[in-house]
Amino acid sequence: MNNISVSKALFSKAQESIPGGVNSPVRAFKSVGGTPIFMQKAKGAYLYDVDGNQYIDYIASWGPMILGHAYGPVVKAIQEYAAYSTSYGAPTELEIKMAELIKSMAPNVDLIRMVSSGTEACMSAIRVARGYTSRNKIIKFEGCYHGHADSFLVKAGSGVATFNIQSVPGVTAGVSADTLTCAYNDLEAVQQLAASHKGEIAAIIVEPVAGNMGCILPAPGFLEGLRSICDQEGILLIFDEVMTGFRLAPGGAQELLKVDADLVTYGKVIGAGMPVGAFGGKKEIMQVVAPLGSVYQAGTLSGNPIAMIAGYTLLSELKSNPGIYKELEEKTLYLKKGLDEVLAAWGQPYVINQLGSMISIHFSEQAITDFASAGAANNARFAKYFHAMLNRGIYLPPSAFESWFLNNALTKEDLDKTIQATGECMAEL
Ligand code: PMP
Repeated sequence: MNNISVSKALFSKAQESIPGGVNSPVRAFKSVGGTPIFMQKAKGAYLYDVDGNQYIDYIASWGPMILGHAYGPVVKAIQEYAAYSTSYGAPTELEIKMAELIKSMAPNVDLIRMVSSGTEACMSAIRVARGYTSRNKIIKFEGCYHGHADSFLVKAGSGVATFNIQSVPGVTAGVSADTLTCAYNDLEAVQQLAASHKGEIAAIIVEPVAGNMGCILPAPGFLEGLRSICDQEGILLIFDEVMTGFRLAPGGAQELLKVDADLVTYGKVIGAGMPVGAFGGKKEIMQVVAPLGSVYQAGTLSGNPIAMIAGYTLLSELKSNPGIYKELEEKTLYLKKGLDEVLAAWGQPYVINQLGSMISIHFSEQAITDFASAGAANNARFAKYFHAMLNRGIYLPPSAFESWFLNNALTKEDLDKTIQATGECMAEL
């Protein structure tokens, strides 16, 4: 058992001044129980807590740290640019370089606007879709999470699912009424909704690979089917690539899965751990955004120079060395194979879903293809697994409703330790 006395003391102090002691709910370990670990520093694949414990990290700050923590070139660039000023509130050349770099990597992006979070990116993309189509409703999928803007908190994944929040006080019935939901991977349900709300739906927003109910893959034909429904009905297809963007491939899920979106949203990797998001798409659509058009969207810190240089440095590295994606996938497949072996030997039901460097385990007899199947899994068992792993120095997401993210600093030894620890935990459970 790790000594986490300093974390315990900090958590109790934090609760006196921060709601629940955390600035984002999943960090509170509420669904898995126990005390959240307070971090002091991280390097490469390892986190170090305030009690001096070391952990192999499978969260990567929920995605951004794709090349590991405190990645040398990113740290150096931040230090250099911080000395010039941390913000100007006026344009910089860096923003053009960032936009051009993103356009050179991501398909279907003619114009891109930088924001400061994935939430802002998705919220703005929806506004653009509504402005462009002059329609009000959107379709989202149960268990997908697109940030905490009002329209997305209907049957959302991630923390909303973790805490089993059915309806969010503070979100008006009027807003919720404009959000239609379907089960992930249920194309027929989308077809029916599109038919019964003909001419009313502005956009379908989807995580092309879902990561907020664990990792769930799109069934063959699902994304293609959404594309054709959108084409038929004049609906915009929005890929929320906040998790998948620059993670699954340089051009994200659009590139890997070969399906085009009309609008795409980014976050996480795009900012290398700084608060960054972006939304972009075809010129014809994006030109409704102010000041070109009248769909208003703005941000005091949007395109912040420190955030831009951090993201630019990381994306440049990913672009110039696309072999990174192969390495990441090989590591993830190695992990998957090892986990499969120890879990099969354990003999109880489990499911591992994986694509690229996203992977998750559900303790379930049935395939995990949507929110209902993810919710029906033995998530109490996941909580025990999580703690047994944490005690062995392995930091998994503290919820079965989250994908794990591999970073490229992970070594074969780290993966072997993780596999071995899983075997030991299963014997313990
Ligand atoms: N979209 C997806 C797919 C996400 O996973 C998240 C966050 N986990 C968001 C949007 C919201 O991003 P942020 O937390 O940066 O607001």
